[in-house]
Amino acid sequence: MPTNTHTCIIIGTGFSGLAMAIKLKEKGIQDFIILEKAASVGGTWRENTYPGAECDIPSALYSFSFEPYPFWEYKWSMQPQILEYIKHVAKKHDLNRHIHFQKEMTAAKWNADENYWSVMTEDGTTYNGKTLVSAIGQLHHPSTPNFKGKELFEGDAWHSAQWNHAVPLEGKTVGVIGNAASAVQFIPEIAKTARKVVVFQRSANWMLPKQDRAYKEWEKKLVAKVPFLLRVYRLYIWLLGGGLFNLMKQGNDFVRKIYQKQTVDYIKEHIKDPAVVKALTPTYPMGAKRILFSDTYYPALAQPHVNLATGGVKEITPTGVVAGDGSKHEVDVLIYSTGFKTNPFLAGLTIQGKNGISIKEQWKDGPKNYLGITVDNFPNLFMMYGPNTNLGHNSIILMSEAQANYIAQCVSELEQKKWKSLTVKTDKLNTYHQTTQERLKKMIWMTVEDSWYKSANGNVPNNYPGRTMEYMRVTKTVNFEDFEIVS
Ligand code: NAP
Repeated sequence: MPTNTHTCIIIGTGFSGLAMAIKLKEKGIQDFIILEKAASVGGTWRENTYPGAECDIPSALYSFSFEPYPFWEYKWSMQPQILEYIKHVAKKHDLNRHIHFQKEMTAAKWNADENYWSVMTEDGTTYNGKTLVSAIGQLHHPSTPNFKGKELFEGDAWHSAQWNHAVPLEGKTVGVIGNAASAVQFIPEIAKTARKVVVFQRSANWMLPKQDRAYKEWEKKLVAKVPFLLRVYRLYIWLLGGGLFNLMKQGNDFVRKIYQKQTVDYIKEHIKDPAVVKALTPTYPMGAKRILFSDTYYPALAQPHVNLATGGVKEITPTGVVAGDGSKHEVDVLIYSTGFKTNPFLAGLTIQGKNGISIKEQWKDGPKNYLGITVDNFPNLFMMYGPNTNLGHNSIILMSEAQANYIAQCVSELEQKKWKSLTVKTDKLNTYHQTTQERLKKMIWMTVEDSWYKSANGNVPNNYPGRTMEYMRVTKTVNFEDFEIVS
């Protein structure tokens, strides 16, 4: 093994990468590096800077359990403050000295003779690590569908995750394609300055009000003095999220109808035109796609200068968009809020495990792994926010922390016992995968034809079919009997 081989290489400095680094330090492991493609930390909260970007999970829960923060301005935080929190965590835990910025991993190779990973970055540098942790997230490759005529559009156009802040929207007519989690956050913001906004909706989404508000100064002072209160509040939000899990399962139609009625009442509170109410009312069961939370979307749509076009997009012309409903709209600027390539996981990377097998080959029929963390044939490789670990009902930070705990145990055990490698046993992985697939069949996500949770073959490779409590329990203590160990 080369002398410059680190104990661990982590890829990415979003919530997951930083959680991983902190858990390694808790185990006394200091010899790790983090490779970050950008010039600063933050992951998705660095990348998404669209107006109104915020988190749809309250910050008391969308934050680390070990790093409570009494300074949140709002119950649901805006992107700048979440990024500030991430930077605060990196600084407080002295992580910056471990980070190699502007080092984008392109490939990794397992050296079977000497049991270590070589990680290659875009600029040609190679790093070596006994273990490798991918913390690159699920949603970071923007997807822009190939609409007919797209290349003909003469105005400015961009994807919501790559916002062009140089183009002012004052006095302009702005077309927005898409109306999901990202779009409903920035449409109310751009409607404040644009002359006109046209929203091109293909399907309606279920939406509940957030009832967001700024924390009062006395509340912030109180939780700073009595941090225990923040923990109690966190627990309360976690339990509320747990309640939403009932909507993720098929059945439970009584509960679902109650929540669905809440959405319809909420639409009617703001939208008076029955045709628009109908257009905004989803035709699929609530929970099957991501449930949205907003206090501002329907009020924005109620304004006369914000219009809804339905039926998706038929074609794009040099000066506008023809909607699926046949209506033609001239626009100056076009914003694609059409989501992300959601099922690549490690597919864009050349990762070679045992006997030179690539992750692409191994996963040619879909990603198969154990606990969303480990893959057979890939010794000492661990994933965070991997396949079947996404949630539709609770904070993803809970999952990241659980994964970081699990992986830190593996790395620590490798070090202490001087084991050379850990590889999950194929039969363990297969049993886990099969059970997960069986459970997924009973989830509500299966009932819609198309969503970012589903892949082309109808499987749900992204989501976890249980509650966060279950995932935390099954990942709490590593059962090393699940692994082939080379000592
Ligand atoms: P998304 O949920 O994938 O939504 C994409 C939107 O584009 C949908 O309205 C979709 O319509 C539309 N679309 C896609 N292809 C289309 C086509 N060919 N023609 C017409 N319309 C098309 O993307 P997103 O809003 O960026 O959100 C993605 C995920 O990011 C969320 O689910 C969430 O996990 C995360 N996110 C989180 C937050 C947060 O607050 N924590 C905020 C933003 C995003 P259909 O519905 O008809 O497919």
